[in-house]
Amino acid sequence: MTLKRALGLLGRGLRLRCPRCGAKTLFRRGFAMHERCRVCAYRFEREQGYFVGAMYINYGVTVLIIVGGYFALEWWTPITLAQQLALWSGVGIILPVAFFRQARGLWVGFDYIFNPGEDD
Ligand SMILES: [Zn+2]
Repeated sequence: MTLKRALGLLGRGLRLRCPRCGAKTLFRRGFAMHERCRVCAYRFEREQGYFVGAMYINYGVTVLIIVGGYFALEWWTPITLAQQLALWSGVGIILPVAFFRQARGLWVGFDYIFNPGEDD
């Protein structure tokens, strides 16, 4: 698999599309996922606990943004520690919820890069 193809698969995941066919079928509504792609029948949740990987992605993105944002504001603004804590606590609560769907999409795409052969 080429790097371009792998990045394309991750891009499909970020756009909440099926990694195999590109159809927009990952989520039914809200946080509820379809079990399978309605176009190509690709199974999104391959086993119990499958989306723990998505939780790692979501956690990693949240930590990177909070730590990066903290130091960026620390260096470039006169913001106080109390203001920083209030700001980044709010971000730490809202961001994982807002990024939930994209994290799952990324995980499905990431897994498809390394294990595309599932056909049941
Ligand atoms: Zn599909």
